[in-house]
Amino acid sequence: MKHTITELRAAYASGELSPVEALKSLAASIDQRDADIGGYLSHDLDTALSEAEKADLSKPLGGVPIAIKDLINVKGQPCSCASRILHGHYTAPYDATVIRKLREAGAIPFGRANMDEFAMGSSNENSGIQPCRNPWDTNRIPGGSSGGSAAVVASDTAIAALGSDTGGSIRQPASHCGVVGLKPTYGRVSRFGLVAFASSLDQIGPVTKSVEDAALMLQAISGHDERDSTSVPEPVPNYAESLGRDIRGMKIGLPKEYFAEGLDANVRAAVEAAVKQLESLGAETVEISLPNTEHAVAVYYIIATAEASANLARFDGVRYGHRAENPEDLLDHYKRSRAEGFGEEVKRRIILGTYVLSSGYYDAYYLRAQKVRTLIRDDFAKAFEQVDLIASPVSPIPPFRLGEKLDDPLAMYLADIYTISANLAGICGISVPCGFAETQGAARPLPVGLQLLGKPFGESEVLRAAHAYEQATHWHRERAFD
Ligand code: GLN
Repeated sequence: MKHTITELRAAYASGELSPVEALKSLAASIDQRDADIGGYLSHDLDTALSEAEKADLSKPLGGVPIAIKDLINVKGQPCSCASRILHGHYTAPYDATVIRKLREAGAIPFGRANMDEFAMGSSNENSGIQPCRNPWDTNRIPGGSSGGSAAVVASDTAIAALGSDTGGSIRQPASHCGVVGLKPTYGRVSRFGLVAFASSLDQIGPVTKSVEDAALMLQAISGHDERDSTSVPEPVPNYAESLGRDIRGMKIGLPKEYFAEGLDANVRAAVEAAVKQLESLGAETVEISLPNTEHAVAVYYIIATAEASANLARFDGVRYGHRAENPEDLLDHYKRSRAEGFGEEVKRRIILGTYVLSSGYYDAYYLRAQKVRTLIRDDFAKAFEQVDLIASPVSPIPPFRLGEKLDDPLAMYLADIYTISANLAGICGISVPCGFAETQGAARPLPVGLQLLGKPFGESEVLRAAHAYEQATHWHRERAFD
């Protein structure tokens, strides 16, 4: 189903389609296509159909099916985080706040999207259940960790999806799959019911086929929630109002550190052409500097692993999930349940995180990383005194082949260079399709995303510029499948 949310709603309004027909057609395209993509871990058509029969089409997302990354709790559905420690062992007993809000807006949470285990990864290859492939070239990765969310939207087996972004996990797969991905400001969206990876970085956000759809989804899920004390009681603006406004006079910063060595020439060409397009729409661009960028990867992989090691302590084989058979004693029970349940990357991060938090190393690693994080945040604050938005590539490279970087975790981490600073600083950002890069060995040119970063709670400005850009180009209308 090629429909965007807006198009689907128009088809409902005109009587051309009903929510039941839309769901059946979606299920048929999943049957036909998803075996090659691996974007879904499961879906529950029967429940969705009974919800579709009662859909209230007057609501903003009335009768719209949404794919949900498999780490957000939807009552009655499995929530495995693509981990063997939970897969087949855990059914969500409640709705996450974002799901409650989506339901209030009339949406139907339909289908569990594949991901890197516990959202740790940039390629979806760390899924403990099944690999996920890029719809534009199935030998290539879709990006991660919300690889499934991006792949199902890009392969038209979903209308839209929810993902989560801790260090780029919405924007990077959106970029690699040629769809729109929005990471809201830290505190904009409640994380109640999201399985935590790194609590000071995680945000939930939409993956969609258009900027307008991203605005609609953001509108539905934003706002304060007393069940997540980090959600901020800032009023939620009307995001649709920022669409369709021109960007004349808008000041856009180009961080020189984001256009430096290591950026693939074809990705650079696509992003530079996008910058020219923004200029021709009346934006003024200026070079800026984010001098602490070089430390971002190191800082992120200390803070994220430290927080992950604490968050994942709850998976002990007692309260949740996989339980080792015939343990000798309690310690053996913990050790084997975790050793059997967690995958390689998750173990690597728990060990790293435990190490940086241990006494004697805490000051040298964790505390120091927190100080550099403040410097990174200050870099952005200073930049935003000068500019309204920041434009850059999302990923320095096009999607790589499955298996290509599996033996080299550091190379994989380094590819997060342009996305993780936004999480460290807590700001918002979007990836919008901005062209295709010729890629050696690929079946065809592969999608490239333009990243637009905004001030804290500056989603309206981000959406306004992204929409103006999108409307002036045709990239978002290119589909992976005819
Ligand atoms: N690729 C990053 C990581 O592996 C980001 C993941 C994410 O945003 N969840 O941690």
